[in-house]
Amino acid sequence: MEFKQNQRQGAVKQITSHTNPIVKEIKGLVAQRRHRRDSGLFVAEGLKLATDALDAGWGVRYLALGPEARENDIALTAAAKAKARGAMILEVSTPVLGAITRRDNPQMVVGVYEQQTLALADINPKDSTTWIVLDRVRDPGNLGTIIRTGDAVGASGVILIDDTTDPFAVECVRATMGSLFHMPLVRCTSDEFVAFRKKWPGPVVGTHLSGTKDYRDVKYKEPVLLMMGNEQAGLSDKLADICSELVKIPQAGQADSMNLAVATAVMLFEVRRNYLKL
Ligand code: SAM
Repeated sequence: MEFKQNQRQGAVKQITSHTNPIVKEIKGLVAQRRHRRDSGLFVAEGLKLATDALDAGWGVRYLALGPEARENDIALTAAAKAKARGAMILEVSTPVLGAITRRDNPQMVVGVYEQQTLALADINPKDSTTWIVLDRVRDPGNLGTIIRTGDAVGASGVILIDDTTDPFAVECVRATMGSLFHMPLVRCTSDEFVAFRKKWPGPVVGTHLSGTKDYRDVKYKEPVLLMMGNEQAGLSDKLADICSELVKIPQAGQADSMNLAVATAVMLFEVRRNYLKL
């Protein structure tokens, strides 16, 4: 209740205690997926991410500033912007920042933002380059790295199929290095994706260890759906069956396969090869 009243005005609050209810609430968002799901909020650390989030128009609930940030012009500008949008600005001590993020050397700014995802129906193939489709991705570091790489190559976004790791978990958000705020995310079930795929006008390229086609021998005419498999199980049969191509990245050494995020990066730079210029 107190938060809602303050939110309208964009209040400033000083906090020095670890047991403050707002600090507890933010710690809950860091620690537990359930809290993130129920509240629709998530935590992102750092001034760069705060600036990215604000510039990209994401909703911000709290911006916690440590002592260093309160002397930093960029942080103060970010705080003024967040406050004007109704966020509560928290002036906190360094130990409180450390407790929130469970870090010995916390960033000087920590933000709490509103989650944003799209539905498959929001995707327009005509405006699309390449969508990265991830089948049950498990590792938050992999997901964050893929979001960042997708942003780097100009992909349209990431589609997350069935049960995946939480894209708004702090480890994933960290690994995106701010790209989370620029890359649309879609969540859906495999059945919904199979129905959506039927109307897709471009290539649907699956990566598979039993693929017989070299990934460099395909013509990637966008819009492309690039399908990547789960870290342990690979691409499910159900999803492999709806691909127009199943490709493999040739390997020479003893490794059975490559890390999912690395394989995604190799594929993305090939798919988008003709669009990337120095
Ligand atoms: N044991 C799994 C399997 O049999 O598919 C390995 C999965 S691999 C670690 C995770 C995902 O990365 C794969 O599903 C595929 O999307 C991609 N991948 C990894 N190495 C690849 C390669 N050499 N060629 C094509 N895709 C690859």
